[in-house]
Amino acid sequence: MAEEPPLSEERSEVERLDKKYVFGTWSFQSEVDPTEVVGGEGVRFTDGSGDEFIDFSGQLMCSNLGHSADAVADAIAKQAQEGAYFAPGFATEARARLGEKLAEVTPGTLSKTFFSTSGTEAVEAAIKIARMYTGKQKIVSRYRSYHGATAGSISVTGDPRRLKAEPGIPGAIKAPDPYAYGSTLDPMESLEYIDEMLMLEGDTVAAILVEPIVGSNGILVPPEEYLPRLKEIAHDHGALLICDEVMAGFGRTGEWFGCDVFDVTPDIMTMAKGLSGAYAPLGATIVTPEIADHFEDELFCHGHTYAGHPVACAAGLAAVETYQEENLIDHASEVGDSLGDRLEELADAHPSVGDTRGVGLFRGIELTRDPDERVPFGEREDKISTGSTVVDDVAAAAADEGVYVANMINTLIIAPPLPITEPDI
Ligand code: PLP
Repeated sequence: MAEEPPLSEERSEVERLDKKYVFGTWSFQSEVDPTEVVGGEGVRFTDGSGDEFIDFSGQLMCSNLGHSADAVADAIAKQAQEGAYFAPGFATEARARLGEKLAEVTPGTLSKTFFSTSGTEAVEAAIKIARMYTGKQKIVSRYRSYHGATAGSISVTGDPRRLKAEPGIPGAIKAPDPYAYGSTLDPMESLEYIDEMLMLEGDTVAAILVEPIVGSNGILVPPEEYLPRLKEIAHDHGALLICDEVMAGFGRTGEWFGCDVFDVTPDIMTMAKGLSGAYAPLGATIVTPEIADHFEDELFCHGHTYAGHPVACAAGLAAVETYQEENLIDHASEVGDSLGDRLEELADAHPSVGDTRGVGLFRGIELTRDPDERVPFGEREDKISTGSTVVDDVAAAAADEGVYVANMINTLIIAPPLPITEPDI
């Protein structure tokens, strides 16, 4: 075993133990430098030294309810006391009612849900369902995308995080993205490219999988006509449309789901993050009745011990009820407009702000070395090959000012908890 790097005496005991015993995610372990966090309230959280941060990223764009959703915490405690775990073969009230609730808030006829514990598992289930339903194997996804870290979901991920996992699962094919600011390809032209791809692949594509609004790869909002046309292309070629709503879902965009912004109902939708407001690990994959019916006579050969864990489902049910009761989706839309206006002011005022974009409380600030030429600060690979870009330094400087934002490649991601108010913005 390599010699342990010396741990600074200034580190707290928790930080020292964590550094020594826990694998850091997506990092060179030598560079992992965790800050102890002790709690959160509303849209703020506090570190081990007592410094307070306003949470402008909702942690990993998942704490949509903020850090004080008491109804969710109470539902978790109640379920844990009444019966923490029963195997997936039993029906629990929490799971059944959450299934019913998801049929209510998701668009169109989407109505039958497979529950899991994360976004990556929700995507794995979607891939498997699409393959079993269509009898075809290939999944078309896009380069600027993230769909998870397990074998299948990392293979359909397009961003550089996939590179170390390649060649990945067979049949994962990548297409160009609707990235108006940074790509030479016009977003609508990129669609015709996908149309031609599917034609050339013959009748072998099970599904096109997209984030309706791309999240961690830079908050890419396609033109209004993009998603409806993408669904048409998929169906013309006998493929399904899967919308990955893991990050865009549950009010983030000022609508329940990213695909609602474009009035499109996919055949399969994946959810996690905001589904439980990050109070418990919970993922979900919801399908149309046609797809659900198919499995009446075909074995649904899939499941996990914790599929539909009662405590996580109780958290999910209470979270969705909170979005409804506190009218958080409309609120996100209203304060989101004002956030967008403020970010536009930044774009006009600062030479390194190349573009600001987004909808609702799902916004990005793309930094550039040269606004005329749109020269990126960091290459796409920098983030995994060196673990650091100038954008990381900007995020660190913001944290020094008590403002916590997420960052990925060249973009700062602004995705605060939905209850954020105008003064905080
Ligand atoms: N899909 C999207 C769109 C995501 O943004 C993420 C995570 O950021 C995932 C899937 C994977 O979710 P998880 O990290 O819960 O496995």
